[in-house]
Amino acid sequence: MKSPRPSRPSSVTTRLRLRPAALAAAIVLGPLALGVSVVVLGAIGLRPAIATCGATALAVWLGAIAAATKRGPRLGLASLAPLLILAPFLSTMRASPLPTPAALETALPRATPPAGMAVHRLPTGLTHRTAAFAYRGGSPLDRRDFAMTAVLVRHPRGDLLIDAGLGRDLDAQIGYMPLWFRATTRYERRRSVAEQLDAAGYDRRALRAVVLTHAHWDHVSGVPELAGTPVWVTPEERRHIDDGGAIMGLTRSFGGVRYEEYTFEGGPYLGFPRSHDVYGDGAIVIVPAPGHTPGSVIVFLTLPTRQRYALVGDLVWQLEGVSQREERPWLQRTLADDDPAAVRDGIARVAAIAARYPEIAIVPAHDARAFAALPQL
Ligand SMILES: [Zn+2]
Ligand SMILES: [Zn+2]
Repeated sequence: MKSPRPSRPSSVTTRLRLRPAALAAAIVLGPLALGVSVVVLGAIGLRPAIATCGATALAVWLGAIAAATKRGPRLGLASLAPLLILAPFLSTMRASPLPTPAALETALPRATPPAGMAVHRLPTGLTHRTAAFAYRGGSPLDRRDFAMTAVLVRHPRGDLLIDAGLGRDLDAQIGYMPLWFRATTRYERRRSVAEQLDAAGYDRRALRAVVLTHAHWDHVSGVPELAGTPVWVTPEERRHIDDGGAIMGLTRSFGGVRYEEYTFEGGPYLGFPRSHDVYGDGAIVIVPAPGHTPGSVIVFLTLPTRQRYALVGDLVWQLEGVSQREERPWLQRTLADDDPAAVRDGIARVAAIAARYPEIAIVPAHDARAFAALPQL
């Protein structure tokens, strides 16, 4: 460090000596704190935290730059360096639509749904998120509470529950999830699927199975309350429950679940290579859509009214994932997706369906807007 000029008083000299180190720390920490608070806290939707951390960090940073400028242009320039580090990370959140998929040539599949068939939504809670969390190009200020909604499909040959939503024991179950996950996830639990079925006077003997779009925590939490009901999964998903790491901890903690594996013996369906027609009438058709997890599926429903739905699970978290062909931001897909490239492939297939057959309602498992048209039980 340079020697202080002899003409200055010693108190000033001390301040000047200390200043570069303090400035350097402030310069580095300011933008880092700002970036991390806005990106991470913003992405998980904690607005008060963003405001507090963001404003504090911004003030520290601006003060540091102002002080640094007095010391010379070099420190001022150095204060921008952390931004250069943050920029690539922030760029992973900007809009970047996937290529327009090739036009879908296949005809709308034949279906003869029975007269008694119907669908109902069973909202079990929500998590507080933002559009920026859900898809590239989404705004961190666009609050999107993720729906945690199961779907009951009534069919004369046996009702199916598509996903099981948040269960009444989630507060205890969540302890099986990793610390980073608990630190970034805030949920509000409402009545569980079992509680809603019972309140509606539903005869649970009519429930043939729970069909999981995939086995993540928010899709299985209500399973233990449906004891005795088989849970249908693909062999890939069944394996993933056992060896999928800490993120599958909650699912793995369940004892006594009756998993029944099914395979895709049927031919191509709306651009997907294989399919499983549950009752052979085309009313409930499951296709493999791996990527988010190895055994993720999409469930296509056709009602007697001819209304069709594609329950796409967590292929995308919000409708813009398909309508704007925007995958999850880098951090989210790294943490949440088993195979991001396969997810992109799935998004392209569903986007092609949406373009060719706009009458098929696309229903991401966490988009409250998509569930609005489904009657509640
Ligand atoms: Zn998931
Ligand atoms: Zn989910």
